[in-house]
Amino acid sequence: MSLLTISSLYVDFPTDDGLVRAVNGVDLSIAEDEVLGLIGESGCGKSVLGLSIIRLLQEDVIFKGDILYRGENLYLIEKEDMRKLRGKEIGMIPQNPGSSLNPVLTVGSQIAEPLMLHKHVKGSLAVKMAEKLLERVRIGDPQKRVKDYPHQYSGGMKERAVIAMGIASEPRFIIADEPTKGLDVTVKRNIVKLLKEISEKKTMLIITHDLGVAEKVCDRIAVMYAGELVEVSPAALMFEKQLHPYTGGFFNSLPSRGLKPIKGSSPSLIDPPQGCRFHPRCNYCSDRCRTEHPPMIEKNGRLVRCFLYA
Ligand code: SF4
Ligand code: MG
Repeated sequence: MSLLTISSLYVDFPTDDGLVRAVNGVDLSIAEDEVLGLIGESGCGKSVLGLSIIRLLQEDVIFKGDILYRGENLYLIEKEDMRKLRGKEIGMIPQNPGSSLNPVLTVGSQIAEPLMLHKHVKGSLAVKMAEKLLERVRIGDPQKRVKDYPHQYSGGMKERAVIAMGIASEPRFIIADEPTKGLDVTVKRNIVKLLKEISEKKTMLIITHDLGVAEKVCDRIAVMYAGELVEVSPAALMFEKQLHPYTGGFFNSLPSRGLKPIKGSSPSLIDPPQGCRFHPRCNYCSDRCRTEHPPMIEKNGRLVRCFLYA
């Protein structure tokens, strides 16, 4: 049973230079209890896709498509009901905890807020529960730390704090945007462990450019390139063999695989290349790739957008 179904999603942003086509015809669903990783280079539309699920995009975006959550179209429900759903049913672990935490409020009161708002827990009890949550995300000395301000936390602790906020009201579905960005190796390892633990009981969408996170935590991986999905596959199969040339290039650009960068750079989303969007950078490009846009093709239970498999 799928918990979330995204169909034919298009998200465009008007800018002075023209329309930025951030998400271009995405179809994707997430099953109950599944952990889906959304990977790709920065600027490929991953975060926009995540934010469009919870309707947290700027007002002037041009949005087309359907997003069904437990059968309900999230773009047809009232703003107020969406606000209730956010936090209560759908939790968000935002990108850059440094800027998502309010510097003038204690961490404890910020974790307590969703509890008071969504679970109608009274103030002092909510702070007690915040303390428990800090303990759950393994912040030492939670009785003291609950009263600290964000600036008294290290980078890794801030990440843990936003994770605590994201899970506070026990949402069914959690979206985590770049949960390991900017963390050093040891801190990252611990955050991955924590995410793994949380993911055991939740449905999750993890947006990341970090393949280590994807490999350790995700059941299935969707690869995004220039606003489109180019490959969707069970994680284990993708780590064994990448089908799409971009996925292969992305994996090979990792230090563990020899740090070979993909030639060229990601295209402008205002005026993306004709045909296959990856063609200017692809080693397998043929004439057809320059003019025809490849559809998503099913290949042994995997999906890939490339003529090599047609
Ligand atoms: Fe490369 Fe062509 Fe496949 Fe695009 S469709 S990834 S250009 S081979
Ligand atoms: Mg992003």
